[in-house]
Formats: sequence, C-alpha cells, structure tokens
Amino acid sequence: MRFNRILLKISGEALMGDNNYGISTDVIRYLSAEIKKVHDQGIELAMVIGAGNIFRGVAGAASGMDRGSADNMGMLGTVMNSLAVQDGLESIGIPCKVMSAITMLNVCEPYERLKALDHLENKRVVIFAAGTGNPYFTTDTAAVLRGLEIKADVVMKATRVDGVYDSDPEKNPEANRYLHLTYNKVLRDDLRVLDAAGISLARDNELPIMVFNMKVEGNIAKAAAGVEGIGSLITTR
Ligand code: UDP
Repeated sequence: MRFNRILLKISGEALMGDNNYGISTDVIRYLSAEIKKVHDQGIELAMVIGAGNIFRGVAGAASGMDRGSADNMGMLGTVMNSLAVQDGLESIGIPCKVMSAITMLNVCEPYERLKALDHLENKRVVIFAAGTGNPYFTTDTAAVLRGLEIKADVVMKATRVDGVYDSDPEKNPEANRYLHLTYNKVLRDDLRVLDAAGISLARDNELPIMVFNMKVEGNIAKAAAGVEGIGSLITTR
C-alpha cells in the first residue's frame, strides 16, 4: 500500500543524536536527506515534532511547576525543533512551512487547516508546531489529530526500534516484532507505542498508525512507498 499523504511524527529525543540535550545538526541533516527521498516521490508530507530533547511539561510539574505553564514551555520547545527541521529542509531545497497551534506571527504561520491543505497540495512540507495548543496533551495525540484533519493516509511514528514488540527489544533479544496489530491490543496490553489518548483517537476514526525505525537509512521512504515488512502497522483488525 503506497501512501499519498503522510503525517510523520518525530520525537524530540530523536533530534538529540548522541547528545543528552538539544538539537544535533547531524541528525537534522540526516533527517532532511531522508525526507527528501519521500518528497521526491511526490508523496505529500506533514510532520509533528515533540520536545523531549528540550522540555516536557510532566517533568516541570514533577519539580513543582504549575502543569499548565510547564506544558506551555513544552509546546514552545516543539516550535524550536520545528524551526530547526524547517531550516534543514529549506537548505536542501525542500519548501517547508511551520504552522503553530500557538500564534506567533513573527516566527511562523498560525495553524489553519485549509491553508495547510493548500501547502500540501503545492508539495510543501508542513510542520505542525506547538502540539494541539492545549496542556495535558502530547505530540503523539497532536500527530493523530492533525493527521485526521488533513486526511492523511497514515500516521508514521518514527522510533529507534523496528516497530512494536511483545517485549522490550533493547532488553530482550528474543522479543518478537508484530508486523500488524490492532488499536485494542495496544491499549489492552499497554504497549505504550503512542499515548492512550492518541491511540483512542486513531481507533475511533480508523486512522492507521505505522511504527518504524527512522535510524535505518531509507526507511521513511520505503515505509511511505509501501515496501512490505517495514515496521508495525496498527489498524482496527
Ligand atoms: N505539549 C502540550 N500539549 C500538546 C503537545 C505537547 O502541552 O498538545 C507539551 C507537553 O508538556 C509535552 C511537551 O509539549 O511534554 C513535548 O511534547 P512530547 O512530550 O509529546 O514530546 P516527545 O516525547 O515526542 O519528544
């Protein structure tokens, strides 16, 4: 199954590379080249990027901050990451717009669904920044929400492992990868590949989710082109 329009979710931590914090220019370069392979196939691509490399609201709240303020900081972190990826893409000739759920006109466009669709149809990569614009949510849920709004064929969640496993593959070498599984299994077995709110939203609206390894070169383009055996696909049945 080749996808025509994709919502790619990248965690903030993926942008750190070998560092403990922040944005690695090597990762931005790698990611931009990987995205070019998708863009060159004429596939429409939107992205949501997290902020775990900068700040997470839950961590701020755990150290005594008000959760609403801490989550606002987390959302602002996603804007910084989005601008870094936009810069990487534009530097290799891929037109890219950042649209933020928190309005900051001097920095990027405000999120407008119809405008986002227009950008995609004109083969611009669109990065949805600032999550959903609301505290108590994560960028996983934002990815599903925006995926539904733009009628993406799939949400592709990039991780550092090859997909969803029956136990942690980084701890258990015998762990088996699911090629295919259901939303209900993810929720029932608490597999935590996406947060429960995001999985529920995807389930209720039947938006497929693919979990795959972005560190394998060419994987984003292969998964997008429908090459079999890449990652794990989560659907209704
Ligand atoms: N966040 C939020 N609302 C949203 C999306 C994100 O408040 O709709 C905040 C929240 O504090 C979260 C942070 O932004 O911890 C970064 O997002 P996330 O934890 O999803 O990043 P990732 O784990 O993907 O790097």
